[in-house]
Amino acid sequence: MIYLDNNATTPTDPKVVEAMLPYFSNKFGNASSRHHAFGWEAEEAVDQARTQIAELIHVDPSELIFTSGATESNNLAIKGVFELYARKGNHIITVASEHKAVLDVCDALRLRGAEITVLPVNRQGLVDLDQVADTIRDDTILVSIMWANNETGVIQPMEELGLVCSEHGVLLMSDATQAVGKIPVDPKKMGVHLMSFSAHKMYGPKGIGALYICNHKPRVKVRSQIHGGGHEQGMRSGTLNVPGIVGFGKAATLAREQMSEEASRLQSYRTRLEHLVLNEVEEVLINGSEIHRLPHVSSLSFKHVEGEHLMMSFNQEIAVSSGSACTTASLDPSHVLTAMGMTETEANSTLRISFGRFNERREVDQVANAIQQGVLQLRAESPIWEMYKDGVDLSR
Ligand code: PMP
Repeated sequence: MIYLDNNATTPTDPKVVEAMLPYFSNKFGNASSRHHAFGWEAEEAVDQARTQIAELIHVDPSELIFTSGATESNNLAIKGVFELYARKGNHIITVASEHKAVLDVCDALRLRGAEITVLPVNRQGLVDLDQVADTIRDDTILVSIMWANNETGVIQPMEELGLVCSEHGVLLMSDATQAVGKIPVDPKKMGVHLMSFSAHKMYGPKGIGALYICNHKPRVKVRSQIHGGGHEQGMRSGTLNVPGIVGFGKAATLAREQMSEEASRLQSYRTRLEHLVLNEVEEVLINGSEIHRLPHVSSLSFKHVEGEHLMMSFNQEIAVSSGSACTTASLDPSHVLTAMGMTETEANSTLRISFGRFNERREVDQVANAIQQGVLQLRAESPIWEMYKDGVDLSR
C-alpha cells in the first residue's frame, strides 16, 4: 500500500518512537511532581522538548502552551482572545477556506455574541490583503488566517498579513498545522501573535500539539479554556502528556535538520507526478496557486470523474484523499474547493495527494500510472464524458 495522505496524518518517525519509549516505562514520572526524581526527570524532558520545538519556530520556550492538538489550540486561541478582549470588541475576521477547527469555533462564538466576518479567497485560494485591511474595524479583536491549507497546500501571505494587522493594532492568529516542520515558519518575523500546530502532521505522535502565544511586544494573553491544576502557566490545566511532548520535541529537531532536503525531494516527486499526469491525461486541473504552495501537496481535479470512484479504482493500494467529506449518507463537496469558486461537481472530482518523509521515488510512477488507468477507465464507462467529448452542452 502506498501512503500519500500525509496531510491527514504522518506516520510517527521511528526515531520519535524510540525517544518516547522510556517515558512510558521507567521514566514515567509526572512532570508536576516537585518532590522526587521521577518528577524532575519528566520535567526536564518536557523542558528539553519545549526548547526543541521553540527552536524550530524561533520563539522563546515560555511562549509555547502544550495542548492535545491543533483543534484544541485553535479553540484556546480564538475563544481565549474573544473572552479576554471583550472590552475592546467582539469582531473576528477569518477566511472561508480555513479548517473546520477554526470555522466551527467562530460559529460557536457567534452564538455567544461574536460578530464574525468570513472573507472569501480567490481562484488561487489566496486572501485579498486590501480586503482584510478594509474589513478591520475599531472593535476587531482578532484576524485568524491559516498559514497553509490542508487541502490545496496554498500558503497565505503571512508577512503581509502581519503588517496589515500590526498597522491596525489587531491580533493575528494563524493555524499553521500544515506548515510547521514542512517549510520555514517564523511567527515573530511574520507578525503572527498566536499560532497553532500539531505533532502528528510532522512525524510526531497524535494527541499532542501546541499554541504559540507571543509574550513580548505585544504581550498577548488568552483566557484559559480548561481549568484545573494550573499547568502551562494556568493556560491549560491537566497532567502533561510527557511521552507525547518528548516525541513532539524529537519530531521538531528532526524537522529542523531535514526540512530543506526533504522539501526539495518531495517537491521533485510532486513535480514529476503532476508532469506525468498532465502529460498522459486530458482535462486535469491543478487546484490553488502553483507559486504559493506547500512543496509536497498536489490537489488535482479530473473533469467528469468522481474523486471517490477514482480512489476506489486504486483497489486499496494507494491511500489519498478526495475533495469530498464523507458524511454518513452523502458526499459533501469540500468547502475549501467551493470557496475557491469550484462547482460542487468540480470539487467532487478532486484528489489530494500529499507526499511525506517515507515516500520513495518509484512510488510516484506507480501512482501516476494508477491515476492514468483509473481516469481512462472511468471516462470510458461514462456517458457524460462521451457527451462532453461530443460537444453536448452539459450546463443546460
Ligand atoms: N488545522 C489544520 C489546518 C489541519 O489540517 C488539522 C488536521 N486535519 C487541524 C487543524 C486539526 O489538528 P489536530 O488533529 O491536531 O486536532
